[in-house]
Amino acid sequence: MTRLEERSAAIFLDRDGTLVYSSVYPSRPEQLRLYEGIEQGLGLLQEAGFRLVVVTNQSGLARGLFTDDDLGRMHAHLADELARSGVRIDGIYHCPHHPDGVVPGLAVRCDCRKPAPGMILRAATDLSLDLASSWFVGDILDDVEAGNAAGCRTVLVDLGTESAPPRPARCPDYVARATRHALRIIAAVEGVGPAEPDVDYRPQGWDTASDKAAPPDGGPPSRRMRIET
Ligand SMILES: [Mg+2]
Ligand SMILES: [Zn+2]
Repeated sequence: MTRLEERSAAIFLDRDGTLVYSSVYPSRPEQLRLYEGIEQGLGLLQEAGFRLVVVTNQSGLARGLFTDDDLGRMHAHLADELARSGVRIDGIYHCPHHPDGVVPGLAVRCDCRKPAPGMILRAATDLSLDLASSWFVGDILDDVEAGNAAGCRTVLVDLGTESAPPRPARCPDYVARATRHALRIIAAVEGVGPAEPDVDYRPQGWDTASDKAAPPDGGPPSRRMRIET
């Protein structure tokens, strides 16, 4: 896949709810549990030349719920777990900030907390990535907005938390039933995997026709509590 290697495209991946099961402010390595069956899709895209970059809001740092060392241990564990299946993570970017935090220096507004695209832009500089050739996969519309703002194509993994996007900036290019499905969609669109018949999936309650011209009122409320990180 010389073409992709020249472009240095990436698959940006949210962490909680996208790579691993959602949990409330995990602070220990064993609390990060990878979704089953995602290694194959990640490996296929890596083989095709995509870099794999994790982009995660970790306001638990600003809130004083865990430390940088804790996070380092968690992310080493995550990388190790994926490496067991031959999947190499090229970078992990986290935002430690939150305006409501308690830790001095971290309790701030920043340009990296998603939906801002700061982490993606930094990764693009660090790794020489072409963002228009890259993808962002996440489980909430803040992920989608960050990916869109950075000029990536976006896939929302539907965990049932998100109502129809209130404006085009938060509209994903695709919605997947699970992360495995998101990776299959990307591989199919990129022509590096089998054709994926289920590319037009939309969550219940979303109006397909309103994808790119969604109603301004935000549509119906979320169907389930999301876990804010
Ligand atoms: Mg998430
Ligand atoms: Zn930040």
